[in-house]
Amino acid sequence: MGVESDVWSEVREKVRESIGRDSYVTWIEPLTFLGVETGTARFGVPTTFFGNWVNRNYREVILKGMRNAGKPVDRLSFDLVRPAQPRRGQPGQSPTSDPESLPDQDRLGAPLNPRYRFEQFVVGKPNELAYAAARRVAESPDAQFNPLFLYGGSGLGKTHLMHAIAWMRREREPDKQVIYLSAEQFMYRFVRALRFRDTIGFKQLFRSVDVLMVDDVQFIGGKESTQEEFFHTFNALVDQGKQIVISGDRSPGEMESLEERIRSRLQSGLMVDLHPTTYELRLGILQSKLDSYQAEHGPIDIAPGVLEFLAHRITTNVRELEGALNRLTALFTLVGRRINLEMATENLADILRSCDRKVTIDEIIRKVAEHYNLRTNDLLSARRTRSLARPRQIGMYLAKQLTPKSLPEIARRFNKKDHTTVIYAVNRIDELRQTDSQLADDIELLRRMLEG
Ligand code: ADP
Ligand code: MG
Repeated sequence: MGVESDVWSEVREKVRESIGRDSYVTWIEPLTFLGVETGTARFGVPTTFFGNWVNRNYREVILKGMRNAGKPVDRLSFDLVRPAQPRRGQPGQSPTSDPESLPDQDRLGAPLNPRYRFEQFVVGKPNELAYAAARRVAESPDAQFNPLFLYGGSGLGKTHLMHAIAWMRREREPDKQVIYLSAEQFMYRFVRALRFRDTIGFKQLFRSVDVLMVDDVQFIGGKESTQEEFFHTFNALVDQGKQIVISGDRSPGEMESLEERIRSRLQSGLMVDLHPTTYELRLGILQSKLDSYQAEHGPIDIAPGVLEFLAHRITTNVRELEGALNRLTALFTLVGRRINLEMATENLADILRSCDRKVTIDEIIRKVAEHYNLRTNDLLSARRTRSLARPRQIGMYLAKQLTPKSLPEIARRFNKKDHTTVIYAVNRIDELRQTDSQLADDIELLRRMLEG
């Protein structure tokens, strides 16, 4: 069993990389791995519905992960087990307290990250407006900007700002219900309520909150009944003057899968975007992270110019930047290596490389369309004729190979509701490349053009 659970941690890691953190936390983390028997991987799940959902949406990634980990199986099976203790947002709570007696915000919402507070947020030109708006919403209970819609690319601080609002609101008005959750969790709760015929309870719960924050709302797109419910919850709250905060990866106007009335309702409040970081902001963030690390763990021996180097080279997003700094501080703390330019270059080779190679999905779409003489609109349409479907799959395949984007991100850019479409495309093209030399050549050519 020890060996098998190692296998599962390895597989889980891979699954997380390919489906993204939010889906992972909602659907994969709660699984209890029970072992492998005659070609079947068995898992414990809290509800039958949960198992069905995982089987329908994540079977392929899990099977692939098992195969790569040297434990090939061809099916998954699910057994009902008692749900694990929910994770706690606040430290110091008794782990044995009954979930039913927790306040709604802990039962309904996701835990807040203790590091995501306003004090830890470094403000610069690209995010000053978003910061100011978040701050205002956190400080004034009069719902002046309602809904507040924060949007921008991945890793630019949306979740951080939302948690910061929640922390501050909870401190200032401890008796109010402040609920933060991802759009996926919202969906999951709703679908579960449907399943247990408890939509009334669901509605009452959500409509009794004072502040509702839903993160990554782009994931709600497409599921009509959930959109409907989201819309009603949303309207009921806004009408009662309750504060809503929403985040998304792009503006409501650009979310094709959102219903028109939801879109316009979202646009009726304040929309602010987080812009890509500048060199100054990146340097400021690194400096502040290093300061707080040193305040906590003691001084770090770091040569001048290293932070500037990182701020200069790691331009994708703040998450990458943090990852790089964490790796360097870990090397210092664990093996006592002085941090200088040489060791940074050596140890961050992978991160630096992925930042150098800046192929974007948009470029891929453009080049693929050009190569096959198609219009990008057709390539991104829902039409399934072969002359469109194949180039579209090639586009998704290249996006997976050449960019660090997650499957859901790629799916979204290709107007697909479901990231399993991308998985399918990647597998299909991988297969065809073995037998179809024309296709293999096309892909090589495209790859060279994009990377060159
Ligand atoms: P998003 O939700 O937009 O994808 P996150 O809020 O998760 O991004 O941010 C990614 C990481 O970068 C987090 O660890 C966050 O604390 C950090 N981060 C982002 N922007 C800032 C900032 N301006 N100051 C300090 N840390 C930041
Ligand atoms: Mg986020």
